[in-house]
Amino acid sequence: MKVGMLALQGAFTEHEDMLSRLGAECFEIRRKQDLTRPMDGLVLPGGESTVMGKLLRELELFQPLKEKILEGLPAFGTCAGLLLLAETIENGGSPCFGTMPITAVRNAYGRQLGSFQTQGAFDGREIPMTFIRAPYVKSVGAGVEILSETDGRITAARWRNQLVTAFHPELTKEAAVHQYFLAIISEGMKS
Ligand code: GLN
Repeated sequence: MKVGMLALQGAFTEHEDMLSRLGAECFEIRRKQDLTRPMDGLVLPGGESTVMGKLLRELELFQPLKEKILEGLPAFGTCAGLLLLAETIENGGSPCFGTMPITAVRNAYGRQLGSFQTQGAFDGREIPMTFIRAPYVKSVGAGVEILSETDGRITAARWRNQLVTAFHPELTKEAAVHQYFLAIISEGMKS
């Protein structure tokens, strides 16, 4: 299984470590030529969504990646990556890829704007969760599966080939979310 890692900025090495541990092969996407490599899945890491959005356009990665996601390439966005996929960002300007029917709120999770750790259920399993200036999902469109809610806020969801978490599963040792993403990739390979 080959996973492309958007590596323009932010916390991507931790995702690579986690996915490699689970047996996936990761390669970094930094420029257009990197997209010629076969890719079974795409990770959009945490970082700063506005900076990533700007770089994606400048490096001409935006359109080809958006097309791949719309064609069904499994995509996993954490934190800033969630904001890149969200169709609507309530308080943060225009969407980036906008391929997932969710409305996100930037820098707005719970009462705390900074970082914090908590425990919560993801897809029915209790896992540690690290939030760093996290967004949350305010509302979801038809067919979106809510995978996690923390303090009444939606913090993980899936729609078809797209998976998002407001928290950073790559910063803990718990691999449940990455396993879930690899299962989405496997499902796609079978169909
Ligand atoms: N606040 C950041 C943004 O708006 C996301 C933070 C993160 O990815 N840890 O892009």
